[in-house]
Amino acid sequence: MKKILDVKNLSVSFHVYGGEVQAIRDVSFDVKAGEAVAIVGESGSGKSVTAQTIMRLIQTPPGKIKAGEVLLDGQDLLKLSEKEMQKVRGNKIGMIFQDPMTSLNPTMTVGKQIMEGLVLHQRLSSKAAKARAIELLKMVGIPNPETRIGQYPHQFSGGMRQRVMIAIALACNPALLIADEPTTALDVTIQAQILQLMKDLQKETNTSIILITHDLGIVADICDRVIVMYAGQIVETGTKREIFRNPKHPYTKGLLKSLPRLDQDKNEPLIPIFGTPPDLIKPPQGCGFCERCDEAMHICETEIPERTVLSDTHAVRCWLQHPYAKQQGALGGKEA
Ligand code: SF4
Ligand code: MG
Repeated sequence: MKKILDVKNLSVSFHVYGGEVQAIRDVSFDVKAGEAVAIVGESGSGKSVTAQTIMRLIQTPPGKIKAGEVLLDGQDLLKLSEKEMQKVRGNKIGMIFQDPMTSLNPTMTVGKQIMEGLVLHQRLSSKAAKARAIELLKMVGIPNPETRIGQYPHQFSGGMRQRVMIAIALACNPALLIADEPTTALDVTIQAQILQLMKDLQKETNTSIILITHDLGIVADICDRVIVMYAGQIVETGTKREIFRNPKHPYTKGLLKSLPRLDQDKNEPLIPIFGTPPDLIKPPQGCGFCERCDEAMHICETEIPERTVLSDTHAVRCWLQHPYAKQQGALGGKEA
């Protein structure tokens, strides 16, 4: 399958009072045509920073893209001028954010907001743009689109506003849709409806999706592949099946244990992951998960785990899985 997006060795930091936060370090992944990829991790793990860097929405300063490439169809977005980048945003890459109320313009009708991109990027006449806007509202399941098109965001419910955001994001048939916690602000029923809608639309339009979420539970339904981030680094990647059935990183295992399951005995407690992520002003010398890891060994404290490839699709950064560490066998537990 053709790669739509290829992120290579991306590192981004932020200057804050007290030092430099190394928000993401050496992040590499790709997204193929028609694929839905989830980026999962706790808040502060670097998933939103990754998305914002792809879209070039990082404010510099205080942010700084220190290294890496973001290739969209082979073109490095990090090398484009702001003007060139404006042609990419909303046109080649659509974006959906957590809270539509802050990303929609409250003073503009939703119709106008959908039409904006169509007139700007696709050079549609206002008549054609209006017809397409109505079609898009229909597509995202908003009843009476002919009337709704003339209304303002506050006249829509939270779920309906998120549908409008999806319509805007898909208006120009982007190759890639980035959704950052798109359902976090919604209640569970509406959340399920919006995810179902995204899944249906993805099938229909063959758009690639990056779904960013802290909730591994919502990933299973909609995504083909999962990227797990921790403390600014990718710690495990795999197909949905590999991640859910055969997780290898202790952090991924922890995330799964903290999920409610349908087949679970009600008396079996959900196990939260104790502790907090490390301070990224001074990232740990070794594995970022070391302080919270039950299985940590001496080497984990001093050496960043190398990436170990387990299959064509499955890779992990954990010393437990590294062939060298396995060979040695004698690395020993922390207490040893
Ligand atoms: Fe735990 Fe060590 Fe693996 Fe890090 S590298 S997750 S500390 S076992
Ligand atoms: Mg975030």
